[in-house]
Amino acid sequence: TAELAGLSALVTGGASGIGLATALLLAERGADVAVLDLDPSGAPAPLRGFTADVSDHDAVHCAVRAAAEALGGIDILVNNAGIGAAGTVEDNPDAQWHRVLDVNVLGVVRTTRSALPYLRASSSAAIVNTCSIAATAGLPQRALYSASKGAVLSLTLAMAADHVREGIRVNCVNPGTVDTPWVGRLLDAAADPAAERAALDARQPTGRLVTAAEVAAAIVYLASPAAGSTTGTALAVDGGMAGL
Ligand code: NAD
Repeated sequence: TAELAGLSALVTGGASGIGLATALLLAERGADVAVLDLDPSGAPAPLRGFTADVSDHDAVHCAVRAAAEALGGIDILVNNAGIGAAGTVEDNPDAQWHRVLDVNVLGVVRTTRSALPYLRASSSAAIVNTCSIAATAGLPQRALYSASKGAVLSLTLAMAADHVREGIRVNCVNPGTVDTPWVGRLLDAAADPAAERAALDARQPTGRLVTAAEVAAAIVYLASPAAGSTTGTALAVDGGMAGL
C-alpha cells in the first residue's frame, strides 16, 4: 500500500540493521526516504544516502539540510543511530561515557534540532526514536548503554510534550534483542558463536530473537498518520522480555 505517499522521511543509522529495515519499509509504503549514516553505502536505491556522524553538530546540520532539500521537506524523522557499550560503572572510563552519550543521546538532540523547522512545516509530522528495553529493564553489564537509552526514553516524553501543540508527534520503540549485524558482531566475538546464538534464542520468551523487520513495522506504524493520536509512548518490540 502507498499510505505514506507524498511524505518524506529521514532515518539516522539507516544503512544497517533496524535503520535499514525501517528505511526500506518506509519506501515500500510510498515515502521518499533519506538515510543519514557514518557510511550510507549500505543503503540501496531508492534510499538517498547522506554522510554524517551524529556526534558532529555541523555535519549533522549540513546533512539534514541537504536531505530536506533533496526530499522537499521532512515529515518523518527516525532517530535510530546508536552504539553499544558493555560493562558496569567500574568498567567504562569517562571518555567512553562521553562518546556513547554523545552518539546515543546528543545524536538524537542534534538531528531533531536540525529537522524541527521542516517538521513544523509538515501537516503529518512524526519523530520516532529507537530506544531499548535497556532503558527500563535493569540489564546486567550495561550501565552506560542503559543510562544512554534511559535518557532517550525521557527525551522522547519531554519532546512529545514540547511539540504536541505544533502537530509533531514523538514516540519511541523499545526493542529487545534484535537479529542485526550489531548482534552478529557480538556473537562472532564469542568462543562458540552457534552455542551463544542458541543460548540467546533460548533466553527470549518467544524462543527466538526479534527481527529487524518487526522493529521496523513498529517504527513505521508510529511514524504514520494511522498513529495520529499516539504521542509520548514507548512501544515494546521485545519478544515479551519486559512484560512477561
Ligand atoms: P547496527 O550496528 O546494525 O546499525 C547501526 C547503524 O548506525 C550503522 O549503519 C552505523 O553506521 C550507524 N551509526 C553508528 N554510529 C553512528 C554515528 N555516530 N553517526 C551516524 N550513524 C551511526 O545496529 P542496530 O542493531 O540496527 O541498532 C540500531 C539502533 O537500535 C541503535 O540505536 C541500538 O541502540 C538500537 N537497539 C538495538 C538492539 C539490538 O539488539 N540490535 C536492541 C535495542 C535497541
